[in-house]
Amino acid sequence: MAIVNGNYAKLQDSYLFTDIAKRVAAFTAAHPEKKIIKMGIGDVTLPLAPCVVDAMKKAVEELGHKETFRGYGPEQGYEFLHEAIQKYYARHGVKLDTKDIFISDGAKSDCGNITDLFEDTNVVLVPNPVYPVYADTNVMRGRKILYMNGTPQNHFLPMPDDSVKADIIYLCSPNNPTGAVYTREQLEKWVAYARKNDAIILYDAAYEAFITDPSIPRSIFAIPGARECAIEFCSFSKTAGFTGTRCGYTVVPQELVRRTPDGKELHLNTMWLRRQTTKFNGVNYFVQRGAEAAMSVLGEKQCGDMLDYYRENARIMMRTFDKKGYTYFGGVHSPYVWMQCPKGMKSWDYFDYLLNKLAIVGTPGSGFGSMGEGYLRLTAFGSREGTIEAMKRIEKDSL
Ligand SMILES: *Cc1c(COP(=O)(O)O)cnc(C)c1O
Repeated sequence: MAIVNGNYAKLQDSYLFTDIAKRVAAFTAAHPEKKIIKMGIGDVTLPLAPCVVDAMKKAVEELGHKETFRGYGPEQGYEFLHEAIQKYYARHGVKLDTKDIFISDGAKSDCGNITDLFEDTNVVLVPNPVYPVYADTNVMRGRKILYMNGTPQNHFLPMPDDSVKADIIYLCSPNNPTGAVYTREQLEKWVAYARKNDAIILYDAAYEAFITDPSIPRSIFAIPGARECAIEFCSFSKTAGFTGTRCGYTVVPQELVRRTPDGKELHLNTMWLRRQTTKFNGVNYFVQRGAEAAMSVLGEKQCGDMLDYYRENARIMMRTFDKKGYTYFGGVHSPYVWMQCPKGMKSWDYFDYLLNKLAIVGTPGSGFGSMGEGYLRLTAFGSREGTIEAMKRIEKDSL
């Protein structure tokens, strides 16, 4: 008799985006004349950078000729992309070995798949609110999860608590959904905590390229000692518009070593290589060529222009919220503005208010964890016109 994984029954049903879609559909049916502005889903809207498209076209052409055709590539990605990522990190002051870098089809898969490397007895520490993938993938393994609260007092940046013993720590900076970003000093405290407890930090840097202040680290590996206690996930999705193209990478330093239950030392880099070569067969050649172009100096400039466009949208939003006297977080090193719902409204109440009164769609903060209650996430990934129009509606509104 086949017995299924009972942990799936423990997952909380996530109706967030289906619920939003249902409410939006009902509103559209009732008011077909109203122009809805969508600022909810965290997806990019600008097209791929020209140098990325050129590189992918050229690579597809290569695949069409006998002399340059390629079949299976290395599961962990092509060396040309490892080198491009290595150079990109070096430009931002972080030294990596190409063998630390593993290419994948995106950060979500890697965030979920990394759970394979750890025993299910590990205690996992997860911020609240945050990207739901960390908690859900560990619930699927039946692991004990502890939450650390993001609050306005800690600016949605929870810090280590020595009375809490965790083995695996998820950090997401710049954070989805709050847009909050850890400073160097704060990350140093996390690295110190991890080293003291022999814990491992799983650092999601999917939004690193949005950071504009050079004193804020774009990688956990900018912190001395992190190579012995951290793994970093990154993605081309939000920073180079690859949400549909699919490509990401994970950095597992070769120094990272921990013990098995019977005391044998294993290198996590070797384990991850084994995991990927066993369960994964690599990313499309032409997508990796596109990603290589995105990591080049020209690609960084062209993608940077896209990020500037989104940053300006965020500024437009923040200006309006300043005028209204609203409390908000993020919006500076992040495409997300995390606003406190006016007049103490609950997330879904304010969501409904914005939709029904102003035809604006946000994402209820409560969908990212209990501490998100009373907040709404708005994204800067929309069009300039849409953002301006939405802010005009909010500005004119009485709330
Ligand atoms: C969007 C997002 C990802 C997913 O990235 P993909 O590479 O598209 O899978 C990972 N982490 C966070 C925090 C995100 O917001």
